[in-house]
Amino acid sequence: MLEKYVLFDRDGVINQDSDDYIKSPEEWIPIEGSLEAIALLNKNGFKVAVISNQSGIARGYYSLETLDAMHEKMQRLLAAKGGQIEAIYFCPHAPDAGCDCRKPKTGLLEQFSREKNYPLEAIYFVGDSLSDIQAAQSVNAKPLLVKTGKGLKTLSENPHLTIPIFENLYDATTFILTASKF
Ligand SMILES: [Zn+2]
Repeated sequence: MLEKYVLFDRDGVINQDSDDYIKSPEEWIPIEGSLEAIALLNKNGFKVAVISNQSGIARGYYSLETLDAMHEKMQRLLAAKGGQIEAIYFCPHAPDAGCDCRKPKTGLLEQFSREKNYPLEAIYFVGDSLSDIQAAQSVNAKPLLVKTGKGLKTLSENPHLTIPIFENLYDATTFILTASKF
C-alpha cells in the first residue's frame, strides 16, 4: 500500500484546548473519539503527523521536557487504542519572534514534506483555527475545519469559509476515508 499521510493540528483537534494553554500532561485530555479516529486512519493505511503552534514554550508556561511528557501521554493513550502518531512538528516561538514556522506560516509543513519526502499538495490538514486553514491553503493542501477547540469561534469570525466543516476529528476522519476510496 502506498504510504499516505494526513496532518492534524493538536490543541482543539486531538485534545481539549484551553485559553490558559495546555501546560502539563495532566491538562492534556483527548477529545472524545479523536484517538479512535487516528487508530482508524492507521488501520486504513494512513500515517498521521501533528503540526502544532506551541508558543507556550517561548512564553515560559512549560518546558520542552514537559511538552515531551504531554506527547508521551498522547502516544500512550493512542497506543491503547491501537494507533500512533508518526511525527510531531511544533513551533516553540512567540508570535512576535518573526520565525517562519508559526502557523499561518508554512515552515512546519515544509519541514514535514522535506523529512518525509511527501508532497503537500492535496494532503488533508485538519485544524480548528484560521491559521491552520491559511497554512494549508498556502501550500495547496486541503484544509478541513472541526468545530471542536476554537472551531466554532473560527466559524463565527469567518462565516464565508468554503472548506468542509465537521463536528469533530472523528467525523473529519470518516470523510477522509470515504473521499480516499475514489
Ligand atoms: Zn516558529
